[in-house]
Amino acid sequence: MAKLVLIFLGPPGVGKGTQATKLAADLKLPHISTGDIFRDHLKRDTELGRKAKEYMNAGRLVPDELTVSLVMDRIGKPDCKAGYILDGFPRNVKQGEALETALKQRDERVTAALNFDAPRQVVVDRIAGRARKEGRVDDTPATVTKRLEVYDAETGPLTPWYKARGVLHEFDAQGTIEDIYEELKSVVKRLKAE
Ligand code: AMP
Repeated sequence: MAKLVLIFLGPPGVGKGTQATKLAADLKLPHISTGDIFRDHLKRDTELGRKAKEYMNAGRLVPDELTVSLVMDRIGKPDCKAGYILDGFPRNVKQGEALETALKQRDERVTAALNFDAPRQVVVDRIAGRARKEGRVDDTPATVTKRLEVYDAETGPLTPWYKARGVLHEFDAQGTIEDIYEELKSVVKRLKAE
């Protein structure tokens, strides 16, 4: 079977991280969440964490120079041999191009881009719920507004970009976690059979 390279796309709060976590556990593939990696660096107060902090707290994207090399290093690790799940990367077309170029050099490609979407109010309510539960510093109302703006301007264009490459799959993320996961699993089953 070909290497499974799966990309999770969708606005903040849509629930893609939850779906990616479940799928990674089921498929026994690494779940690479750039947001989690940056949060870990922030917590450990590393040089990268200190550089990323101001962007994250403002709801803006960490510069591509820092993000792309981080992901390229990670996907080159031995545990990524059979495949991996990218959650939160790419976040703009430039990152998408960098990934495409790096994969081409290794004779690989993105298997599928899985796009999760829901009406804006659903997303805003979910983030408010997560803020109460997890207390993420970037889940404050002002930062959330900025993150959604950044999503619309920079990340949204990746949806047609992957569609043009014939690898886009769209999911209505309004349902329950279980229902959406069932749909996701059936898509992945088809992809694995291809
Ligand atoms: P997330 O947990 O995916 O919502 O990411 C939290 C924050 O980390 C984002 O608001 C960005 O500041 C930063 N971040 C995560 N992934 C990326 C990426 N691929 N490119 C740039 N910044 C990112």
